[in-house]
Amino acid sequence: MSGAAGPTLRSASLARLGDGTFDVVVLGGGINGAVSAAALAGRGAKVALLERADFGSATSQESSCLVWGGIKYLESMEFGLVRKLCLARNQLLRAYPSAVREIRFYTAHTRGFRHGRWKLLAGTWLYWLLGSCFTRPPRPLSRATMAREEPAVALEALDGGFEYSDAWLPDGDARFVWSFVRAALDHGCAAANYVEAEGSVREGGEWVTTARDLVSGAPLRLRSRLLINACGPWADGVNARNAIKTEHRHFLSKGIHLLVDRLTPGGRVLAFFADDGRLFFVIPLGDKTCIGTTDTPVDRPEVGVTGEDRRFVLDNINKRLKLPRPLTEADVVAERCGVRPLVVGAAGAGGRDWMQLSRKHAIETSDADGHVTIFGGKLTDCLNVGEEVCGEVKRLGVGLPFPAHRWYGEPPAALRDEFFHQARLMGLDGTAPAGPDGTTSERLWRRHGAEALGLLDAIRRDRRAAEPVLRSNQVLRCEVALAGQREMVVELEDFLRRRTGIAQVVRSEALRRDPGLEEACRLLFGGEAEVRRNAWLHGPEGTPAHLGGA
Ligand SMILES: Cc1cc2nc3c(=O)[nH]c(=O)nc-3n(C[C@H](O)[C@H](O)[C@H](O)COP(=O)(O)OP(=O)(O)OC[C@H]3O[C@@H](n4cnc5c(N)ncnc54)[C@H](O)[C@@H]3O)c2cc1C
Repeated sequence: MSGAAGPTLRSASLARLGDGTFDVVVLGGGINGAVSAAALAGRGAKVALLERADFGSATSQESSCLVWGGIKYLESMEFGLVRKLCLARNQLLRAYPSAVREIRFYTAHTRGFRHGRWKLLAGTWLYWLLGSCFTRPPRPLSRATMAREEPAVALEALDGGFEYSDAWLPDGDARFVWSFVRAALDHGCAAANYVEAEGSVREGGEWVTTARDLVSGAPLRLRSRLLINACGPWADGVNARNAIKTEHRHFLSKGIHLLVDRLTPGGRVLAFFADDGRLFFVIPLGDKTCIGTTDTPVDRPEVGVTGEDRRFVLDNINKRLKLPRPLTEADVVAERCGVRPLVVGAAGAGGRDWMQLSRKHAIETSDADGHVTIFGGKLTDCLNVGEEVCGEVKRLGVGLPFPAHRWYGEPPAALRDEFFHQARLMGLDGTAPAGPDGTTSERLWRRHGAEALGLLDAIRRDRRAAEPVLRSNQVLRCEVALAGQREMVVELEDFLRRRTGIAQVVRSEALRRDPGLEEACRLLFGGEAEVRRNAWLHGPEGTPAHLGGA
């Protein structure tokens, strides 16, 4: 099995960027840029998407991976926002029945908390109603029920709890972002990672964007009728450089998560109110648990996990769970750290506590300049962002020849049934036991959609394609080869952290020593395997090793 190197797909995109005049150039390949590109390309616009690092490598890979209606905004009485987010969540659950899953939130209530337990339980019923009763209904939890169902929860300070539903991304946020980039590429978008936009100017009623391919150093010049700034926490700086004035701007708040070995066997999210009064989660992620998050105002988007952040998370979890021994920094397998771009109007936060700033998005358009900025937002709201961007682009005069095209969602049920039928006939799930991520066939369908049928074909041709390449993870040889050909993997970290979540569930020391890493690099990078592997082995890593970073 050979893996043609990722640059094939990328160099084709770069060639198209180079000769390009576009309807729309989108800056930034996080969730907001990815959905904008997927929606516009799917509806027939000529689109370019530039991402200066890897797709989904900034805020969009550091979230809690929750698709949720924002239950906490009930406290600030933002019922309209909660309703909107619940409907957005429901729409994602309907459109992605495999990749977005309902999950139960098992919430502990501390005696003397600022709101009583029955009041909060009533809140969960209101939340359920605002979400059109789409999920399973909430239920109250007595201490006895909690002791039986989640014995790890420390009950001493509790008077019980309640359970309600929201949703989550079992394969993580960055893979979800990639699915939109993939959809954009499939609909003719010229998208490339490691291409930095250096500046855009308005010339003769068009935008001229100067960019640089950060791999080769080659300059690029793109012309477009419209420009969309989807640079997340960097959007204000990019607007300032491009002389775009806006009413909105961002307020930045840092949040971290720690990944540790699985703490509880149940597939639920455990939710607590942390010492700062915020909701605090224990989220299943493969065979690991993701704990967080924090909320700290910061001045700049470039942030890292501090000792104080780690202590906050570990202290809070040690107080709230009865573990065989308290968790320490030595238990941390991987970390996540990002900055929430929270949108505020021209007047700023208006004296509001930053924790109370709601996480809605705003799309601000300058008609005269043919410019759109996407402020704030959540992964949960991504389909609305895509639709709203289409609306603005159309209003600014760019025709969308296929206005009814559905640009998102998993393939139709008939294709899914055919995939599972073929997988069963091949005995695919008979070879390996189901892991924490489900059976092999479930995992392949969830992660690859229609392309999973091609993977079955590869396995029929060569049974070795169904074997794991790495000793430390279940990812199959055919999946690695597919990533090399179709997933624009430029650096090994793109594959380990974002196309898969391997780097979040396997300690970097174990990955470095994994005997399969060499073959994985050959499948991903062909002739450049050694260069890329060495670059990763000797490059900066995502902190642990152990917690001192590189
Ligand atoms: C701790 C935390 C927890 C969260 N939890 C959730 C959650 O559970 N559920 C949820 O729905 N939301 C959650 N969010 C919010 C969500 O993650 C963000 O709102 C969303 O990811 C923002 O996406 P974005 O595309 O705007 O920004 P980003 O993902 O940051 O993307 C912007 C991109 O622009 C690129 N860029 C910048 N400058 C340039 C340039 N000059 N040229 C080219 N590219 C450029 C950057 O490299 C970056 O990739 C969370 C956020 C945080 C921080």
